[in-house]
Amino acid sequence: MSKRALLTGITGQDGAYLSQFLLDKGYEVFGVIRRSSHRGVEDHRLRWLGVADKVTLIDGDMSDLSSLVRIVKEVQPGEIYNLAAQSFVASSWRQPILTANITAVGVTNILEAMRAEKPDARFYQASSSEMFGLIQEEKQNEKTPFYPRSPYAVAKLYGHWITVNYRESFGMHASSGILFNHESPLRGIEFVTRKVTDAVARIKLGKAKELRLGNIDAKRDWGHARDYVRAMWLMLQQDKPDDYVVATGRTTTVRDMCRIAFEHVGLDMNKYVVIDPAFYRPAEVEVLLGDPAKARAALGWEAKISLEDMIKEMLDADLDRVRTAASL
Ligand code: NDP
Ligand code: GDP
Repeated sequence: MSKRALLTGITGQDGAYLSQFLLDKGYEVFGVIRRSSHRGVEDHRLRWLGVADKVTLIDGDMSDLSSLVRIVKEVQPGEIYNLAAQSFVASSWRQPILTANITAVGVTNILEAMRAEKPDARFYQASSSEMFGLIQEEKQNEKTPFYPRSPYAVAKLYGHWITVNYRESFGMHASSGILFNHESPLRGIEFVTRKVTDAVARIKLGKAKELRLGNIDAKRDWGHARDYVRAMWLMLQQDKPDDYVVATGRTTTVRDMCRIAFEHVGLDMNKYVVIDPAFYRPAEVEVLLGDPAKARAALGWEAKISLEDMIKEMLDADLDRVRTAASL
């Protein structure tokens, strides 16, 4: 199989870590990049990891089938990782149709491009634990019924099922990774872990006085993106395509995650955290807890980085950024 990979969403958190992982394994890495008037900043995550000059970026958009067909034809990848999405749950209520176009129909666009131009490639779909939403079982595995609670989760559910459908309809090597929340110093600043580590760094360095949060009783099964991109790759190395839950098997409240961050710099969170209903969601996913037993047994995968170590790594990176006034 050709060691040539095509990533949509290469400029995002997972795209950056997966690029680094694949380059270390000797792959040629190609990525789809959206046209932007801000040329030069879109690849900041790839630069942060020192891999921007080692990947090839090609203009395209998930909503433009013609661009995806052209890219797959040109690159002839052995593996396609579909990571692109409007990925922020809260925004999906404000932009539900865009979320559907990119996060749902975009999956069919890239599958169609693959079917037309490289049907023997292997395909990875970035599915999400948000699909479990209003959880139907205490620990969620591949057989747990879905109950999406946001336009984002509804769109992801479409992406998941169209991937399963193309596998069953056309015999494509298409796998879906149902990944639970995963974070890193490269996580978008709007997600709660990074919002917390950025704010704690600012408070510690005297640049902010408070941290405004929504529902801090929500619980998530948080892992590290560096661990999770390894699971994506492992799925595509299997003879048969399949679906896998990727999680740590531990769930923590936003409150406790926050406490870990404040304690790392010797501060008491109760003095700084303000609850702001503006951050409540129209429908909430109260708790997620994944069961990664199948990934462990079939892929030999397990999470190696603890929540505590990850929060420390994120906080140290944010302290550096705030000290040097670097933006990310
Ligand atoms: P990010 O939000 O960091 O990255 C999203 C990527 O999608 C960016 O590269 C973005 O480009 C790209 N993108 C958005 N819209 C388009 C478009 N119209 N055309 C082309 N590219 C587009 O997400 P993550 O890296 O955190 O997540 C990767 C994938 O995994 C996503 O699909 C996400 O929904 C899913 N997922 C993530 C989880 C997590 O906890 N991180 C959990 C489960 C699933 P640009 O840089 O130009 O904005
Ligand atoms: P999600 O699981 O993909 O929605 O990831 P987020 O990091 O955006 O949110 C995780 C949980 O934190 C959700 O239950 C949010 O409601 C909760 N949360 C509480 N306060 C905030 C906040 O200020 N911002 C975000 N993004 N989430 C918050």
